[in-house]
Amino acid sequence: MVVTESRVATVGGLEVRRALPSRGRRTVGAWCFADHYGPAKEAADIGPHPHMGLQTVSWLLTGELLHLDSLGTEQTIKPGQLNLMTAGQGISHAEEATPQYKGLMHGIQLWVAQPGATRDGDAAFEHHGDLPVADGGAGEATVLVGDFAGLSSPARRDTEHVGIDLSLRAGPATLEIDPAYEYALIVFEGSVSVGGAAITPGRLAYFGMGRDELALIGPGRGLLLGGVPFPDELVMWWNFVARSKDEIEAAQRDWSTDSGRFGEVESHLKRVEVGPPPWRASANGGQPPGS
Ligand code: MN
Repeated sequence: MVVTESRVATVGGLEVRRALPSRGRRTVGAWCFADHYGPAKEAADIGPHPHMGLQTVSWLLTGELLHLDSLGTEQTIKPGQLNLMTAGQGISHAEEATPQYKGLMHGIQLWVAQPGATRDGDAAFEHHGDLPVADGGAGEATVLVGDFAGLSSPARRDTEHVGIDLSLRAGPATLEIDPAYEYALIVFEGSVSVGGAAITPGRLAYFGMGRDELALIGPGRGLLLGGVPFPDELVMWWNFVARSKDEIEAAQRDWSTDSGRFGEVESHLKRVEVGPPPWRASANGGQPPGS
């Protein structure tokens, strides 16, 4: 097991703990990006911005968000519900705070890298209001994506991966996992003990492949990510997941010239603009992924 500390970043005025990618760990299966935010008072408003080559996975513990995208989708998401947006060759979206919600925001924003077979394909959006939940006595497990404990999420998946919200009661829990997957645990609240280490918010515990069981001690709540190691080398910059810098440059040009590739989003928020990537414009400071 390897424990990495998340990096603090700011997205749309909101402080996040970026668990993935980190210096030591770029991916877990196809999971390539994970921002844990809150609990926070700030609204998580993010204006229209583009994506390609990835799926966005939005999951809330508390709060409410309105998702708007260039397919014409308008979907409010609440705790326990999953928003899954597939970018393919291009989509744009915005996330707005809802006027009626006044409480704290707490959630996680994840990306899944798309494989070669679908990354140049069409964009799509799914909302899942009802996900399978297993209760093994030691806690509850909600299956966001993939298969766990004999349950299957209805969410689309283009690679062999899994995402499970674990709500552990006090005491030990043993999870049956797939030896063909690598896994990582991100903790939302409380402290989950694993292999003698206390995993708390702001840390990611990585487990390699070859395990058929994972022993955890609660109480705590977190997200278990897993999957078959992603075979391709990824190039990630700003909101794009690609295989080469050329693809990134083309995407940035298409967004800044509004070529039509990423469509239009109906939002009261301002479109997010970005200059060329740093290897093209050394004068600009460069943008890390997910800003
Ligand atoms: Mn986004």
